[in-house]
Amino acid sequence: MVINDIKAHIDCNADAVDRALQRVRKSGWVILGPEVMGFESAFAQYVGVERCVTVANGTDALEIALRSVGIGSGDRVATVANAGMYATTAMLAIGAFPVFMDVDLESRTASSTSVRRAIDLGARAIIVTHLYGKIAPDIAEIADICRQRQVPLIEDCAQAHGARLDSRMAGAYGDLACFSFYPTKNLGALGDGGAIVTKRVELAEAALRLRQYGWSEKYKVASPGARNSRLDEIQAAVLMELLPRLDAWNQRRRCIAESYSAGLSNPAVCAPECGGADYVAHLYVIRTNERDSLREHLKRVGISTDVHYPVPDHMQPVFGERYSCLELPNTEALAKTVLTLPCYPEMTDADVERVIDAVNRWS
Ligand SMILES: *Cc1c(COP(=O)(O)O)cnc(C)c1O
Repeated sequence: MVINDIKAHIDCNADAVDRALQRVRKSGWVILGPEVMGFESAFAQYVGVERCVTVANGTDALEIALRSVGIGSGDRVATVANAGMYATTAMLAIGAFPVFMDVDLESRTASSTSVRRAIDLGARAIIVTHLYGKIAPDIAEIADICRQRQVPLIEDCAQAHGARLDSRMAGAYGDLACFSFYPTKNLGALGDGGAIVTKRVELAEAALRLRQYGWSEKYKVASPGARNSRLDEIQAAVLMELLPRLDAWNQRRRCIAESYSAGLSNPAVCAPECGGADYVAHLYVIRTNERDSLREHLKRVGISTDVHYPVPDHMQPVFGERYSCLELPNTEALAKTVLTLPCYPEMTDADVERVIDAVNRWS
């Protein structure tokens, strides 16, 4: 059993994908045309915000979002170190200085306390990642703190398409929010894609310029630090066709996660809490002190697993000794013990039972 079956996903949605491809072929419009405009409007409406600006991928979305709020070289930006280095990569592209917050052990996300401390340490923007499909439980309080202290809040929603907390959607809390449509995400394209959403029209306008050479109008470059980072019409058309199916896929993912949490009984394994609509089960991540042994056991019975993520950002080789004095105990403990089990909408109930059985039989 694979960890994520893109082939099955495309096969199950072949009708929608074919419709999208046909539409673009017939229109002859391949860059920044009606499909991109249509999807931007539909996705903004889905999240419940004013505007959506699509870009080439999720990492570009983070970089352009940071630049849109004025982050430049040398500025401190706070984020967590357990979320795969994406936000940090965006900061490094700008020359910004990452300030790492430790995460809460249970939610594996930034807490309001850590955000307050980061702002005291001079952070000029905050990136909160809704990891594994779970909205950071403190997000509303974090948004209040950021507003009071006038520090822009950016949500990284690349793992949280469609997650809701108190009927507000992931992406509707921050000044800006970033999404990835990488094929394995809860809403995935047929290749790379990304988006920035925002309630603030002036930030959307800034992002629009930054995604296309810094143009204020054609051939007139007004914004520094700009890029060429566009979503193409084919991907926008595919996403437009798939968006109406997202909630049903999330429901299926949640159902799989609930079966796991109810069925896993091995005392050496710690299963995550799940249940609410704040969790869209992008990844189902357990903890165990004997990770290598469990991985090996599952591999032997034909079940793939993965680790999200093995190397915390502050310990990445790219930094050399720069963060050698920084300790993030929760982040470091999680990196040593987390293990991701297969969880995707096309899994059958029998697949889920097989995984539960195999984990419970491990000793
Ligand atoms: C996938 C992911 C990204 C990056 O998206 P790309 O489209 O691959 O650049 C950013 N943040 C998180 C949390 C992700 O999971």
